[in-house]
Amino acid sequence: MPGTVVIGGQFGDEGKGKIIDFLGDRADVVVRFQGGANAGHTVQVGEDLYAFHLLPSGILRPRTLNVIANGVVIEPGQLLKEIEEVQARGHAVKNLRISDRAHVVMPYHKLLDGLEETLKGNLASGSTRRGIAPVFEDKVGKWGLRMCDLVDPEVLREKLATVVPVKQRIVAAYGGTETLDAEALFKEYAGYGEKLAPYVTDTSVLLDAQLRRRRRVLFEGAQGTHLCIDHGIYPYGTSSNCTAGAAATGAGVSPRYLEEILGVAKAFTSRVGTGPFPTEQEGEVATHLRETGGGEYGTTTRRPRRVGWVDLVMLRMSVRVNGLTGLAVTKLDVLGGLGKVRACVAYRDEGRTLKDFPASMKVLSRVEPVYRDLKGWPELPEDAWIALAAKGKRALPEPVKRYLAFLEAQLQVPVKIASVGRSRAATMTLAR
Ligand code: GDP
Repeated sequence: MPGTVVIGGQFGDEGKGKIIDFLGDRADVVVRFQGGANAGHTVQVGEDLYAFHLLPSGILRPRTLNVIANGVVIEPGQLLKEIEEVQARGHAVKNLRISDRAHVVMPYHKLLDGLEETLKGNLASGSTRRGIAPVFEDKVGKWGLRMCDLVDPEVLREKLATVVPVKQRIVAAYGGTETLDAEALFKEYAGYGEKLAPYVTDTSVLLDAQLRRRRRVLFEGAQGTHLCIDHGIYPYGTSSNCTAGAAATGAGVSPRYLEEILGVAKAFTSRVGTGPFPTEQEGEVATHLRETGGGEYGTTTRRPRRVGWVDLVMLRMSVRVNGLTGLAVTKLDVLGGLGKVRACVAYRDEGRTLKDFPASMKVLSRVEPVYRDLKGWPELPEDAWIALAAKGKRALPEPVKRYLAFLEAQLQVPVKIASVGRSRAATMTLAR
């Protein structure tokens, strides 16, 4: 700190929410800077489980300021639902600020998302149909509505009067039969604007002031490096930048404040949606990885995740494009009971060895992983892992320590946090 960025090193769902919550103890501010309600973070506090799509993970700590910054796209109805849910469970939500420059997801974005996904055929990326690609298309194409428009009825009505007829033509051209009603949209969204207005402000000014005072600001990445629109597996990813650089543009702060960049990686790999996945497993190993330790099902979609061994070609790229200063390795408990643990150290492609992650989908679909086998460790109940976590690194089973040392040597980055279960208590700091 002051500026610490937490980034997903793989395909999202690495357990970032839990790591942010763990670090949240030491943070004054938690910031979401990209993505939208297509992200899903699970945070467990004691027996209580919370699933957030838009709210930052620090929202349950009343003294921590939580910011939804300009890089996020906001579905107002969903955000209000999350706010009301958290309030109903006894939290005041006085600690939330929303950027006046964040773009708003409209119902026509969701409609177009579904229509585009159908038209895309093989290029379909398994969209969550939350309207994310169309809202980013509008942001770049300059058709977008921002939070500052949502809270200003005059501007909102005027913009909708221009945009909605154009969207209607696109819906029809894509084969949609739905009718868009600008006046009904205005009424519904002006209502959301009124409710959200107290939270809306210039969050860049706010964050700059916090960082100048050397307050500790945690930038919370959503999705993961390999879903990034620039550096991910294109087109099978998301529509925003998910790498560390996006923390600066997506929050409106200078990159010089970003001092620590922590990559979160599962001890294996999982993903939802389509696209190449070189270390993917099926059969017994897949069942073990998917079913152990709470299960691998998407927070947003509840789709079963595809699973496989850890891929160091992929993680090496994450180390590079994000400039990771440390790793948080999660779900070490889930690998327990497998006998041996495998790690992909390179790919073989038509007689060549690839150490760097290829851009071409054609190449990526045909590569063969080169594995290194390591000794496994026993399956333990969560209580036993929590007891080990409380004792610190030295108490971890020898093969776990060797596995972590192997990752450090391969990736040239220290493992700073290890996670061995879902709860806060099953998390340990290995290095600062
Ligand atoms: P995020 O989007 O990166 O925050 O990840 P998700 O919340 O979608 O998925 C992570 C899931 O793994 C959640 O259900 C967490 O409770 C769970 N989880 C996080 N760390 C661990 C861990 O070390 N062990 C186990 N068994 N579960 C974990």
